[in-house]
Formats: sequence, C-alpha cells, structure tokens
Amino acid sequence: MTEPDGELLGPTVHRQLRHLVLSGELAPGAPLSVLALSARLGVSRSPVREAVQQLISEGLAVTVPHAGARVAVVDDARIREVLAVRAVLDGLAAACAATRLTESDLGKLTALLTTQERHLRDNSDPARDTELDLEFHTFIRDRAGNATLAAELARLEAQAHLYRGDLWAHPRNRSTALREHRRILDALESGHPGDARAAAEAHVCGLITRLDRR
Ligand SMILES: [Zn+2]
Repeated sequence: MTEPDGELLGPTVHRQLRHLVLSGELAPGAPLSVLALSARLGVSRSPVREAVQQLISEGLAVTVPHAGARVAVVDDARIREVLAVRAVLDGLAAACAATRLTESDLGKLTALLTTQERHLRDNSDPARDTELDLEFHTFIRDRAGNATLAAELARLEAQAHLYRGDLWAHPRNRSTALREHRRILDALESGHPGDARAAAEAHVCGLITRLDRR
C-alpha cells in the first residue's frame, strides 16, 4: 500500500473519521477500533490512532475502560449543557468578529448562507446541513481573533451535532435556523458588536427552545 507522507495523511484520516462520526455513519456509542478503521480507510494504524486521539480531545469520542474508544453519546442533559455554554461563547465570537470582518469575508459568509438556503429548498441530505452549519459558525469564530475561544467553540459545536433526534433535521427547525443565520450576518454587516452578540446568542438560545418544545 502506498501512502502519502505522514504529514498529509494525518489530517486526511482525521477529516474522514470526523465525517463518519458527524454524519452518523459511526453512531454514538459505536466502537472506534483502530484495526477495523485502518482496514476501512485503507491506511496504516498509526494515523488512525492519532485521529482517534484527536476525536477524543475534540469531545467527539471517549475512552471506555477495558473497551477502548467509542463515539461519544450526547444525550438530552448533555446537549442542554453544551448549548448553554455555546450561546455565550458564540455571542462573544460574533461580537469580536463584527469589527474584524473584511468585505471579502462578508462576501464569503453571504455565499455560504445562500448555499445553505438553496440546500434547504432542495431538501437534500441533512448530513450536508450539519457541515454547512459548522462552516458558517467556524468561519465567524476563526475571524474573532481569539484562538482559545475558537478551540473551545470547535469542541462544543461538534458535540452539539452529535446529538441525534429531529432537532436538526425537522424542516421547520432548519428554516428557522437559517433565518437566525441571516440575522447574524446582517448584524455582522452592520459592524455593531452588541448586535452581533445578541443575534448569535439568540440563534443558540433558539436551538434550546426548539429542544424544549418537542
Ligand atoms: Zn447555526
């Protein structure tokens, strides 16, 4: 088997594994056997081992004593905790980003939101929804100019998307979430940190409300 050099392979394997977890192909609680995954991905064990460790540090996997690593399970209680913290930190990220985004950044965010809206109309696969949602939030937090904040939010967002159930997939919830994204973008365009913070907090608080409503 020929492999690209280790520096390139590690991130690729991590991305593939992360996709399997976030798309639900590897369901919450599923074992993350290094041997089985290296066979599935057609790579040697060491990049898989590293990728699993990375998933653990991102909160997407846990180590179960005597059973190895498994995909983390995010239940109702845990999702509420995660979202409550995320609401505050997402607000902070949006407030910081509001004064830093360039015209080109705003153009990219607008294009991303348009893609999300088109995707909602086409009603195609919900796993892609998750990826587009993550892209939107990742873009904003990466422009906040605070690496500690970005790393913490990356963990929380990924964990939130591990939560199963119809919170993300219900069509009404999907269109409500996109309206909230539009408000975040409007506030970012206005350049007012307070408005951006409020819009970003309202989006995550909206998720909590929709969770309670079921
Ligand atoms: Zn969102």
